[in-house]
Amino acid sequence: MRIGVDLGGTKIEAVALDEAGDLLARRRVPTPRDDYPATLDAIAGLVRDLEVETGGRGTVGVGMPGALSPATGLVKNANSTWLNGRDLDRDLSSLLARPVRFANDANCFALSEAVDGAGAGARVVFGVILGTGTGGGVVVERKPLTGPNAIAGEWGHNPLPWPRSGEWPGPSCYCGKTGCVETFLSGPGLARDYREATGASLEAPEVVARAGRGEREAALALERYEERMARALAVVLNILDPDVVVLGGGMSQNARLYGNVPRRWQEWAFSDRVTTPLRPPVHGDSSGVRGAAWLWGPGEA
Ligand SMILES: [Zn+2]
Repeated sequence: MRIGVDLGGTKIEAVALDEAGDLLARRRVPTPRDDYPATLDAIAGLVRDLEVETGGRGTVGVGMPGALSPATGLVKNANSTWLNGRDLDRDLSSLLARPVRFANDANCFALSEAVDGAGAGARVVFGVILGTGTGGGVVVERKPLTGPNAIAGEWGHNPLPWPRSGEWPGPSCYCGKTGCVETFLSGPGLARDYREATGASLEAPEVVARAGRGEREAALALERYEERMARALAVVLNILDPDVVVLGGGMSQNARLYGNVPRRWQEWAFSDRVTTPLRPPVHGDSSGVRGAAWLWGPGEA
């Protein structure tokens, strides 16, 4: 049995999967914000409850915002800031009396879709989360790539390529740079673009809905969004040439992206013909927690 834990800023979700990936049990609790010992106890409690419910013992994988620093082993880059600088690996492994694997939540998303989702059977999968931020993850043969700096797939904090007038230097980003892909392709990025064009403040889903109803300014904002995504993903195609690109997060629910973006990335990728499919997620919001469970591979659980 595999147990996956998705350690989010507002809730912690855990699932138990059987060997085939079928759901055995699911639990969730609110995240004890700003309280590290209580966060550890909450994770351990979820694992215990799942094991009591299923009557088995599982491997444990944890997906979280941020990463374990390869240099120190401590948590870094987590927007759940009370985790940063903590030895989550040692503390949780000792609490659960077993080794625990960790990965960034975008890597877990990509892994879940690569194992039995939209990228099932593909050798190289690039997964993107388009939500309040833009994360990315690379999975090769069912294993997430991390890299010596634990930043593989961090696509959102590169500059928007081939900038047009008005796009450079671009909006400032929380990472300290300006013009990052994230500032254009996150939900708040679309909302900002619409606000700058119209003066009206709307959340991204409302911009998408208005475009669907034929509002001209909303449709133009969405066209800019798609064209920017095509440019940004063309860079990924040029470097990685993945077999499949899968979108996740709130913005991935916009069906028109899957036709319009590949039509446009053709123009930017360094190839006479681009056949890469762009797909919606199969597991939706469950991908993070399922991918955490799949950090333990075939034959390991
Ligand atoms: Zn940035």
